[in-house]
Amino acid sequence: MPTSSEAAQSQAAQAQSSQIKSSQAKSETASSVPYLKPGAAIGIVGGGQLGRMMALSAKYMGFRIGILDPTEDCPAAQVGDFQIVSDYDDREAIKQLAERCDVLTYEFENVDADALDNVADIVAIPQGTEILRATQDRIAEKTFINSCGVKTARWESVESFEELSEKIEKIGYPAVLKTSRGGYDGHGQQVLKTPEDLETVRTSDVWGNAGQSEKKFPVSILEGFVDFKFEASVTVFGDGEEYFAFPLVKNVHKNNILHTTSAPAEVSDEIARQAENLALKLAQGFKLAGTVTAELFVTSDGLVVNELAPRPHNSAHYTIEACDMDQFDAHIRSIAGRPLRRPKLLSPAVMINVLGQHCEAVCAQTPEHPEWNVHDYGKTDAKYNRKMGHITVLTENPARAVRDLELTGIWEEREDKAAN
Ligand code: AMP
Repeated sequence: MPTSSEAAQSQAAQAQSSQIKSSQAKSETASSVPYLKPGAAIGIVGGGQLGRMMALSAKYMGFRIGILDPTEDCPAAQVGDFQIVSDYDDREAIKQLAERCDVLTYEFENVDADALDNVADIVAIPQGTEILRATQDRIAEKTFINSCGVKTARWESVESFEELSEKIEKIGYPAVLKTSRGGYDGHGQQVLKTPEDLETVRTSDVWGNAGQSEKKFPVSILEGFVDFKFEASVTVFGDGEEYFAFPLVKNVHKNNILHTTSAPAEVSDEIARQAENLALKLAQGFKLAGTVTAELFVTSDGLVVNELAPRPHNSAHYTIEACDMDQFDAHIRSIAGRPLRRPKLLSPAVMINVLGQHCEAVCAQTPEHPEWNVHDYGKTDAKYNRKMGHITVLTENPARAVRDLELTGIWEEREDKAAN
């Protein structure tokens, strides 16, 4: 496996993603997806809001839905036909789901790929598992992205403090150190601004062990810090033969959680084309069956991919109201052998997430806002920072719509609560 972006990019001329395929894949990503008749059952591993919205799309197309999730009456199970209550990595439970379904899909990337491979002979898994393996590991992911000829931050793999001191000389300050596996929402990440920050790494919970054995150092990736204008994303879908992208959207995060998405992103035609092209290149590289979102940085030099999510994505929820085919329909069509088409943006839109701390105020203010399309995921426990729903507003002026939403005061950070 290449251990740096330069090594990865020098392989770009080789067959796309051949390395990931040949070394790891047991079940291939589909090259075409057979037509699934109404009444057939789709099994979804994971029963959160993404599974719920996938299930809603699948239901109106006439499919039956089975959910595998450890929480009884989880968001997806509320709209599905049956649930297997078990941990996501329970192989016996995955087998049961496979036996009761015609097609399996997943709503998150940390599914046990081997467990899915184990049932590949009893159920269709159009997305395959190599896309999971490639996105579960940041080094494999960046290697794949670069092999498609798509730009990422400069990166190096790092497995020890010695290597970190060496590689930071190549990458330069500022840089970002991330564990290659298992990090999420900014966890397992450290920005290195000066050589003094190396000491912070040495004593951190994730990488350090207060000067003890270096064995603890998890395989990590060191990335150059990207000086971006704003963050964005592009969602692409396909059935292994045809691929289409939704428009580039602008994302704003708070505390590493998506806060708002504005669609479309205000960018030049050239950047919009670049986004579509890179999304299609990635989809072709994966022989994508299903949906993938590329999270991006928009810089003065163009687009840089940060990471990929092999599933419907929070930043494309706006498509439910704003497009003539939404990302969940696109996902289900893509894995059910239904014809695909280029999605059309019918109206610019803004999406804002509703977290646990916003629920009460959203409920109280909803009667005043006929322009809000309020989505509630059916979760009972409104925990701090837990995604409970979202609101989409169709508007000719996304910037003003974001301002109006912020002016409600609902999304103001309250320090007493933020400390929880
Ligand atoms: P990630 O876990 O990779 O999604 O990163 C979480 C957030 O950290 C991103 O949304 C960015 O705001 C920031 N970030 C991650 N990597 C970089 C980078 N190489 N340069 C600048 N900012 C970054």
